[in-house]
Amino acid sequence: TLLHAQDFDFFYFAQHVSCDSKIKCCYPTNGKPAEDFGIHGLWPNYFNGSYPKSCNKNGRYDETQPTLSCPSNNGTRFWSHEWKKHGTCSLSMLDTHSYFQAALALKEKVNLLQILKNAGIQPNGGFYDLEAIKKAIERGIEHTIGVECNIDLNGNSQLYEVYICVDKSGSNIIDCPIIPETKRCNEIVEFAVFGSRNILDGG
Ligand code: 5GP
Ligand code: 5GP
Repeated sequence: TLLHAQDFDFFYFAQHVSCDSKIKCCYPTNGKPAEDFGIHGLWPNYFNGSYPKSCNKNGRYDETQPTLSCPSNNGTRFWSHEWKKHGTCSLSMLDTHSYFQAALALKEKVNLLQILKNAGIQPNGGFYDLEAIKKAIERGIEHTIGVECNIDLNGNSQLYEVYICVDKSGSNIIDCPIIPETKRCNEIVEFAVFGSRNILDGG
C-alpha cells in the first residue's frame, strides 16, 4: 500500500531521439507520429545519483489505467516495463494513471524541439556545439539539464537523450540535483533527422 511505498528524491524526465535502429517505434494506428523527441521515461532518483527500481515485485500494470494515444502492442509492452521498473518506485506520490499523466503534462509543458529550433538548432543531420544545445535548453526551461549521446553508423556522436529534472510531485521542473553523466558526447554533436534510423550504438 502507499504507506509502505519506497521514497525517492526527484525525477529525471528523459526524452530521446527515438525510432532508431535499436528502438521499435510505437506508431499509432492513425499514422506516423510527428518528428519530435519521444518520452523515454519519468524516473525516480536519489540525490546521490543512485536510483530505486522495480519497487513492487508483485505489482501489476493495469493497462486500462493509462490513457495514452499510442495503442500498439509495442507501446503497451514498453509502458508496462516503465511502470514496473520506474513507476512503482514513485507510488508514494503517484498512482499509475497520475504517473503517466505527469509524463504527458511535462511533454506538453516543455517543447524541447521548439526551444532548439528557436536557437537555430534543427534536426537536420547537421553538427552543433554540445554547449550551445545545452545552453539553449537551459535558457528555455530556466533550469539545468543533462544530455546523453550515441554513435551513428558513420561513427559520429549524436544527440540522443535530454534529462530534465522534476520534483517529487512530478509537475515542477527544478535544477538537476545531480547531473547525469554526459555519455558518448563529443564537443560537436550531430542532431539527426528524426526517424533516420542511423544509430549504431544506443548504449
Ligand atoms: P543507459 O545505460 O542507457 O544510460 O540506461 C539504461 C536504463 O537504465 C535507462 O533506460 C533507465 O531505465 C535506467 N537508468 C539509467 N540511468 C538512470 C538514472 O540516473 N536514474 C534512473 N532512475 N534510471 C536510470
Ligand atoms: P529503461 O530500462 O531505460 O527504462 O527502458 C529501456 C528499454 O526500453 C530499452 O530496452 C529500450 O530498447 C526500450 N525502449 C526505449 N524507448 C522505447 C520506446 O519508445 N518504445 C519501445 N517500445 N521501447 C523503448
